[in-house]
Amino acid sequence: MNGAGNRVGAALIAITRRGIVAAVSLAEQWPKARVFALRTRADGMEHPRVTWIEPPLSGHIAAILAHHDPVIFFAALGATVRLIAPHLQNKQEDPAVLSVDEGHRFVLPVVSGHQGGANRWAEQVAGMLGGQAIITTASDAMGLLPVDILGREWGFQVEGDKATLTRMAGHMVAGVPLALVQESGSREWRKGYDPFPGHVVTLERWEEADPNQFRGLLWISRAAVSRQMRSVWEGRMVVYRPPVGQGEAVAVGMGCDRGTSVATVEAALAQVLTSHFLDENDIKVLASIDVKQDEAALLALGRRLHPKMIFYSAQELADVAVPHPSATVLRHVGTPSVAEAAAIRAAGGSMADLVVEKWCYQGDDGKNVTLAIARLAAETVERSGQGMGALFLVGLGPGDHGQMTQRARQVLQEVDCIVGYKTYIKLLGALTHGKEIVGSAMRQELDRCMEACRRAASGQKVALVSSGDVGVYGMAGPTMEILFASGLLARMTVEIVPGITALVSAASRLGAPLTHDFAAISLSDLLTPWAVIETRLEAAAAGDFVTALYNPKSGKRTTQIERAREIFLRFREGTTPVALVTSAYREGESILLTDLERMTQHPIGMQTTVLIGNRSTFIRDGWMVTPRGYGGKYDLDAKVRAAVEGEG
Ligand code: SAH
Repeated sequence: MNGAGNRVGAALIAITRRGIVAAVSLAEQWPKARVFALRTRADGMEHPRVTWIEPPLSGHIAAILAHHDPVIFFAALGATVRLIAPHLQNKQEDPAVLSVDEGHRFVLPVVSGHQGGANRWAEQVAGMLGGQAIITTASDAMGLLPVDILGREWGFQVEGDKATLTRMAGHMVAGVPLALVQESGSREWRKGYDPFPGHVVTLERWEEADPNQFRGLLWISRAAVSRQMRSVWEGRMVVYRPPVGQGEAVAVGMGCDRGTSVATVEAALAQVLTSHFLDENDIKVLASIDVKQDEAALLALGRRLHPKMIFYSAQELADVAVPHPSATVLRHVGTPSVAEAAAIRAAGGSMADLVVEKWCYQGDDGKNVTLAIARLAAETVERSGQGMGALFLVGLGPGDHGQMTQRARQVLQEVDCIVGYKTYIKLLGALTHGKEIVGSAMRQELDRCMEACRRAASGQKVALVSSGDVGVYGMAGPTMEILFASGLLARMTVEIVPGITALVSAASRLGAPLTHDFAAISLSDLLTPWAVIETRLEAAAAGDFVTALYNPKSGKRTTQIERAREIFLRFREGTTPVALVTSAYREGESILLTDLERMTQHPIGMQTTVLIGNRSTFIRDGWMVTPRGYGGKYDLDAKVRAAVEGEG
């Protein structure tokens, strides 16, 4: 076995623009660590689990290798090799070390590729970064299953004598037919081997494996080896024992001090999961006591993991028998146990179902978290597990993928299906690969919203997408109304993912037209009476707001923009700058600078945002600018000239 037993969590070491940083914390959510987040946020120093390292880096390597596994360098292969070389022992003891190039294109396992799992990590990290793992060890390079260490990253214990293991590994390399049966444990390990080599056949039950057809059996199970099984497969069977609870639906019971930070709660959970080889995907219920209903960190965790959230009264918790009752807890909240009692109660079981008993954790902020995990009884899984869907309302920004948020991208990757109008689906391009696409032909917005809600209520993870921001003249409003009216809200979690709205993307193409107060008005009178729109146009014009007009004109609605212009001319000069931005950040983008007098002589369409300047807005050298107002405070020109000449 390798020496990873006493190492905790991963270490990521990056040399960023601002210096050397490392995330050396078990709190990183392996195997789902957000490497991207580290890279981007490290530059802004916002990541709570990122530590800055005092140069030289070489002085820290021994400690990092001793305490972390895997260790991932965002540095050149050569630099990585030189740094770790003095500290390497042997392949049984060294942690997995990886090197990732600056462009995130290649992920190289440097040492402990096979036994230490660096190859597997490389595949995973490459998956997260959208890069490619470069594997050089023989059996892994051939895509064969590692018989001796199968599922080790997920805590599988191998049972089998050495001779059998060697023989079976030989069969694997020689292409001899083998049967593989998995009855329990995480199936995540399979991802890196998809598809399996042709001579390895997966079956549901070991009884299905014909002993004449297969020369060996790989059996992943927690069940005992029966006498019958032994008589058939003795000497040609390897048994893998996954940890208890893994791959099963579980309920997490949690208690924490008031005001505990999200980082601490996340770190506590990560520590428990990592040390028990559990996967956060298996968390179907998160339960606590009712006084924690407004505890920000628990709610944040709920938003991220999308479990069912249950808050019990002190009495409901006090009724549950637990292994570790506490008199102090009883005095404070009126029940001798929060975490254990909540987990057991949410799981619908008894003490025997606890996979993790009371686990205490103190965070960097000095706050305490207690956790317990219980396996869900089968009927509880029915009721809560699969039923909990998620609905994401996602704003895609103007169109170009570079202008989409990181979160939007991440959500699109996670969901099962994407609901949206065909124009938006088209904008997504390759981001829709492998997803079910729904409703792109539906013309009615409401039908799409309803379809999205219906699917999320039935347990799917659904993204409802729209351009710009979903909340700005978008589907977020109608969707929330549908959720309220239908009572479906309780059957799913909802997250709204913001996007760059058209007035902001249009402005960025023009210069700085929104520097002062501005208003947005949609000229679409399909749902809003025209009289209301006119009143708002008048108010914005009179108030000297820079004004963005959405939905200015379509094939059928052509008069509204003329009317808007007339209203503005009552309050502003004909020479007031106006910009027509069409298809910003999309194919066929056009930017036209004109004025109030002449604006409607130019093409305006469904994809156009019209920006009308205020009384101070000006156009210069092709840029549209609304002054902030400093000009009046002092002689800006003189000040700037002085600065440029180095006298200021
Ligand atoms: N939710 C969207 C707005 C939908 S209303 C957002 O937040 O941007 C549709 C109107 O948005 C269009 O008629 C147009 O006025 C504007 N619009 C959307 N995308 C645009 C783009 N790429 N360039 C310019 N205007 C755009």
